[in-house]
Amino acid sequence: MIIIGGAGFIGSAFVREVNRRGIKPVVIDLLTYAGRMENLIGTNHDFVRADIRSEEIHNILKEKESASNVVVNFAAETHVDRSIYKPQDFVTTNVIGVVNLLEAARKYDFNYVHISTDEVYGEECGDEDSPLKPSSPYSASKASADLFVKAYVRTYGIKAIIIRPSNNYGPRQFPEKLIPKVIIRTLMGEYVPIYGDGRAERDWIYVEDTARIIYDILEMAEWRGEVYNIPGGQRYSVLDVVKMIGEVMGREVKIKFVSDRPGHDRRYCMITKLKYEVTPLREGLRRTVEWYLNNRWWWEPLIKDKFFVEDEPWKVKV
Ligand code: NAD
Repeated sequence: MIIIGGAGFIGSAFVREVNRRGIKPVVIDLLTYAGRMENLIGTNHDFVRADIRSEEIHNILKEKESASNVVVNFAAETHVDRSIYKPQDFVTTNVIGVVNLLEAARKYDFNYVHISTDEVYGEECGDEDSPLKPSSPYSASKASADLFVKAYVRTYGIKAIIIRPSNNYGPRQFPEKLIPKVIIRTLMGEYVPIYGDGRAERDWIYVEDTARIIYDILEMAEWRGEVYNIPGGQRYSVLDVVKMIGEVMGREVKIKFVSDRPGHDRRYCMITKLKYEVTPLREGLRRTVEWYLNNRWWWEPLIKDKFFVEDEPWKVKV
């Protein structure tokens, strides 16, 4: 199995999941600011540093394909605030990079697993057949890639599926994202900036559940472009989540309301055709808080990042 973007947050959890199932994958990753070899400590894998936008990715996939007929792609630019600040990288990696991988899938006979997001449905509750209504440059780039995957299945007959998880949380998530930001800033004794009224709702899923469910999907996929939603079935507002983190940490979370993220979706919500159980949010938060408490070495080098420090980071010059 080849796991692209395997040095990131969900990708590295998926590497651990396939290791538990007795598989040693090949991990391909560009190691951007979000991809770190530290995330792969303790896992069993072969590593190749490469960019999904490059020509060389074709040779790597050709060479490694004999060892594997499944390529799972987690690689993406993933932070909505960064996409508002500077959308270009989201187009080159999330759209053109994916089309480059689809071209490789036309040439070599692998099964392509495309990791998408609930954000492509916009604010409406989507099932797997719902129309895509993305709002941010990030979700527009992810939705574009999804449409290209479908087009390649239909036009060229490549074997592919699309998986759309909801908001993930857990160990090794980059501190720019809400839950690690709340935990780390509270550990540092600092306030947490809350966008708008804090009532935007997200559906939360623990990252190890996502990794397990993705693997289970691979075992039943028909590779005809079908879509699988993975909601956590636990929809909470940002303020509710912040409050729960404070309860789990046994500390007061100081908050500061700041202006709303431009184009901010009020909610994400998905329905799924799959059946599975997930970790309750409070339990997942307990494990996540414990991990950040025990792994300061992992996040301390990252806290100068502007998208962690600033109240309204999309306004910041990077
Ligand atoms: P992340 O930002 O933690 O990791 C992304 C990884 O992709 C990094 O290791 C990075 O180095 C790599 N990468 C970026 N550009 C690359 C390129 N051009 N070539 C090769 N590698 C590159 O992201 P994540 O949170 O783990 O998300 C993984 C996937 O899941 C993404 O496709 C994202 O859109 C999707 N997703 C994430 C969430 C979430 O809540 N985190 C929810 C739904 C869907």
